[in-house]
Amino acid sequence: PRLLIPVESAMGETRVAASPDTVKKFLSLGSKVAIERGAGLAAGFVDGDFNTIGAELVAPGDSQAWSEADVVLCVQSPSASALARMRSGALVVGLLAPYANSSLAASLKTAKLSAMALELLPRISRAQSADALSSQANIAGYKAVLLAAAALDRYFPMLMTAAGTVQPARVVVLGAGVAGLQAVATAKRLGAVVYVSDVRSAVKEQVESLGARFIEPPEIDQRPDESGGYAKQASEAFLTAQREQLSNQLAQADVVICTAQVPGRKAPRLISDLMLDRMRPGAVVVDLAVEQGGNCANTRPGETVDRNGVKLIGASDLPCSVPNHASALYSRNLVALLEPVLKDGQLSLNIEDELIAGCLISHNGVIRHDDVLNTGG
Ligand code: NAD
Repeated sequence: PRLLIPVESAMGETRVAASPDTVKKFLSLGSKVAIERGAGLAAGFVDGDFNTIGAELVAPGDSQAWSEADVVLCVQSPSASALARMRSGALVVGLLAPYANSSLAASLKTAKLSAMALELLPRISRAQSADALSSQANIAGYKAVLLAAAALDRYFPMLMTAAGTVQPARVVVLGAGVAGLQAVATAKRLGAVVYVSDVRSAVKEQVESLGARFIEPPEIDQRPDESGGYAKQASEAFLTAQREQLSNQLAQADVVICTAQVPGRKAPRLISDLMLDRMRPGAVVVDLAVEQGGNCANTRPGETVDRNGVKLIGASDLPCSVPNHASALYSRNLVALLEPVLKDGQLSLNIEDELIAGCLISHNGVIRHDDVLNTGG
């Protein structure tokens, strides 16, 4: 099969869906690889790196390359006009933002394309090496702490100096999924004292093994637990109790890293205006859930808001700020996903396979997860 790696078209996107290493791998599996000129530049991969190992360089938007491709590997979804250039039956693979994306569904239907949305990959152990949400969330959690440390008016570690001792920064992490746990680990490495809130009881042990303290969720009936490893949406009563519980913690915090999410839903609002009123000037909140409505009141995507001295950082695209490693890991996720599908130089999708079935949102133009694409459910 012929693979095409395009220049990413989304604003601010710096990642690319292949590295020279993964292109080499696809070539060794019997695929042909075309890559648009400049596709890897923002991620630190130059055209020559791809060319010397045997990939074909094509002009961005080259109609022939798009119409000949059997598989387009991307980070974010190509534009509707680019999808329209693909031949019917071809496959597009990427972080396609499927939730409530009826315009994507329409493009896939019209062009009769197959599509795999990595957001929907089941969280099963066999899928772990292909799990792009995890590889990217890990980066986001790490970078969120570095942003907070750079913006904070204090040290992170406890220091004993000739001028006296300073106490370590107090960091609260909301949500202990992949991003949250990496935020905990990074803040601990910098010497902070870390507290963590999550609704899934299973994470308590993970949090404690990283040397952080777990804030037990409020004991009320409607406690949201989990399905398929993910948290369920919390009730308003639960969130009210949780905000009350967190309010005292936040009043003593120097940094809050917000990572609480429920897939396909609005992020739980865990920090209200009243809670922000109680935080000290100089404190920093980094909200990774800002694109999903935010865990914290008043955060805005890509902006830092100063609210009475509390810095509110709306961090929407942190993986793009570490593009080389983000791309290298994402590209390996794609190899792990596609290697079993690219057998003997042929592309064969077994739609009975749990892993494929989970993320295949369209098969030759037939939409398979209509509930996700058209309702956001
Ligand atoms: P996510 O981004 O969907 O959510 C982040 C965290 O927010 C989750 O831990 C969730 O419980 C938490 N959260 C939701 N509502 C909250 C609230 N009101 N208050 C506090 N916290 C709240 O999660 P994720 O990082 O994608 O990971 C989800 C789960 O999947 C984790 O258990 C993770 O370990 C697991 N996982 C499994 C695999 C695998 O087996 N292949 C791979 C990666 C992740």
